[in-house]
Amino acid sequence: MPLTPSIELARSRPVLRRLVRRGAATAICVAGFLTVASGLMRLAHAETLSAPQQLAKDIFKELIEINTASETGDTGRAADAMAARLRAAGFGARDVEVFKPAPRKGNLVARLRGTGARKPILLLAHLDVVPANPGDWSLDPFKFTEMEGYFYGRGASDDKNMAAAFTANFIRYKKEGFKPDRDIILALTADEEIGGGLGVQWLLKNHRDLIDAEFALNEGGAVLLRGGKPFRVNVQIAEKTTVNYRLEVTNRGGHSASPRSDNAIYQLAEGLTRLSKFSFPVNPSPTTRAFFERVAEIETPRTAADIRSLLSSNPDAAAIARLLANVAYNSQLHTTCVPTLLEGGHAANALPQTARATVNCRIVPGESVEDVRTMLVRALGDDQISVSQPSQPTTSPPSVLNESLLGAIEKTAAEFWPGAPITPTMVAGSTDGRYLRNAGIPTYGHSGLATAEERAHGKDERVLVKSFFESTEYLYRLVKRLSEAK
Ligand SMILES: [Zn+2]
Repeated sequence: MPLTPSIELARSRPVLRRLVRRGAATAICVAGFLTVASGLMRLAHAETLSAPQQLAKDIFKELIEINTASETGDTGRAADAMAARLRAAGFGARDVEVFKPAPRKGNLVARLRGTGARKPILLLAHLDVVPANPGDWSLDPFKFTEMEGYFYGRGASDDKNMAAAFTANFIRYKKEGFKPDRDIILALTADEEIGGGLGVQWLLKNHRDLIDAEFALNEGGAVLLRGGKPFRVNVQIAEKTTVNYRLEVTNRGGHSASPRSDNAIYQLAEGLTRLSKFSFPVNPSPTTRAFFERVAEIETPRTAADIRSLLSSNPDAAAIARLLANVAYNSQLHTTCVPTLLEGGHAANALPQTARATVNCRIVPGESVEDVRTMLVRALGDDQISVSQPSQPTTSPPSVLNESLLGAIEKTAAEFWPGAPITPTMVAGSTDGRYLRNAGIPTYGHSGLATAEERAHGKDERVLVKSFFESTEYLYRLVKRLSEAK
């Protein structure tokens, strides 16, 4: 999708660096003027933020600036910081708890008490982030930076924006004296990026009662912008299952001065080449069909016609091929398997005795892991390529999007993005949601964060300033709508 000029500009690291350098030089030349000017700008800026916006921004900044990289950072500190804010806002000790199952690992669970007329809602966001190497970034990843309409920092879009929005909204409800008709639970978790072992899984195992809810709102469903305009509002209701397979070819090896036709690297490479030409059968689940029905209403005429063909009883092969060529639609339509790691040989002057590859598969819910393995082995087309599976995957069922939740989402979304359809989606990645779903808590990925790009896990992660405030307000109204006495 085309990027706006400003996005394109900031995307280029040298340009960004130049902008930063030029800014520094200017500051030295006209420091006096700038001090006054920036003071005025700060004043003007402060005036434009409402008190709830300022609070959300302060919390967002505090979270970004605590390094919570899953392996090396400290989610305990972040959980403590959020707990301190909630307690200062009037939440009692029994309604804010921080659990630290290991050093530097923290989970916060807080509760806004309601009348108890209905089962609680769980608001879930993870505190940990994937690592960020400052050398790879144009800006310090652990410093909250506002520039050219964006907030930058590791976790800006995954998932500290949501953690900040939920926490700020919790404080706002408390200050207003809002009395919901059901408890609203906030859980900020550790370790989502590395499997959730000491995060949501730990909470489910040890404090299930504290997070038990009718359903949960979680990350994983944004508002997609196309050409700067809201295109669709995603609600993630299903996740693919991730399985890694390890491929290996062994060979007796020998001296590289005497090569033979049998060679472990060639043999593995040929299998992988056959895999590259293989496409898993198109298998749109009910979620995917519902998704495409909505998308057909807003797509370009050509793509809409292709989608209608897909959904018909007799799909046209050329239409399917065009949809599979679209990266975003490809992952929705079927299981995919792609090599992600490769290694082989032991010396530059020796014939390889082993060649190995990791193939990462994303399996559509409902398909069996065993069937996918069988198809993978067949696609590799060589029984000397061994295929093993080092770890057991976690499959999870889709969550049913019920009418009352959908109704509240439609009503609230219309206030922010009129005309953009609500689209139920399946993500090709995985989140904490799969554990909640398996524990019987239907989970919906729905952030209300409008975005035109995907920088989560990448460099210069950022969110639009406007989108951050908008999503915070959206979640504020949506959660209220879902918990107001009728
Ligand atoms: Zn995330």
